[in-house]
Amino acid sequence: MISYFSILIVDTMQTRNSIRCLFFCLFLLGACNRFPYADTNKVYKKQAKAYAEILRQYPLKDSMGLAYAGNWVGTTNFTMRRPNFVIIHHTAQNSCEQTLATFTLPRTQVSSHYVICKDGKVYHMLNDYLRGHHAGVSKWGNSTDLNSSSIGIEIDNNGFESFTEAQINSLIQLLERLKSTFNIPTSNFIGHGDIAPTRKVDPNWMFPWKALSEKGFGLWWNDTTGVAIPASFDHMQALRIVGYDIKDSSAAIRAFKQHFIQDTTKIMNEAGRKILYQLVKKYM
Ligand SMILES: [Zn+2]
Repeated sequence: MISYFSILIVDTMQTRNSIRCLFFCLFLLGACNRFPYADTNKVYKKQAKAYAEILRQYPLKDSMGLAYAGNWVGTTNFTMRRPNFVIIHHTAQNSCEQTLATFTLPRTQVSSHYVICKDGKVYHMLNDYLRGHHAGVSKWGNSTDLNSSSIGIEIDNNGFESFTEAQINSLIQLLERLKSTFNIPTSNFIGHGDIAPTRKVDPNWMFPWKALSEKGFGLWWNDTTGVAIPASFDHMQALRIVGYDIKDSSAAIRAFKQHFIQDTTKIMNEAGRKILYQLVKKYM
């Protein structure tokens, strides 16, 4: 026979087990619903705060060793430095999710300001005033630190496929805003392959540079029908004037042909020389 006391004990134990079970279920639910980037967002905020502290420091400490005047005098007239280039990339990865994960893993040390997914969704990962790690070792004209002077835009694309209409529509909207906000010159919308011709080929040859140039992002060449090239025309010098690093001539030619002719070969031919002859006038 079960006494009233033993029923009470069993009852209490069941209640405890039920509460434990409830907490465990809530924990599981919480773990499932937790935003996967909550922790890395905290890292972003912490780093941004550390840089904000550097900006707030005064008297200024960035010219140690120089003879300071006794009293610090801060000017009243200044703004933030502004990006002057936009570098377009393809991610060479298989999904937006994969790219977001790559850009939030500290050991990769790579990032971009924006990521554009296949459905046109845009992730803004880094403040435009901060320096992303997307260009790497690169050169355009005499500029050798493109990360410091540019906005990086990564488009989700494995490198061997065309870009979606939704991606290009989102890209154009974004470029319009960047161009007007930072007064970026039309010629300064370029690709990763342009600034790092020996290392990179992105965005791939299917990227619609001509269509973008018609919207004011990047320069394009005029019709070459009936064009006669002067004997003195030096196509390597012309590539240098456009901005290409010509240390490796084959790489520079390939980069130019990929961007402006949708051709991935390394040999300069007469058609290419005519196009370059027309194009370089716009950079002079
Ligand atoms: Zn790239």
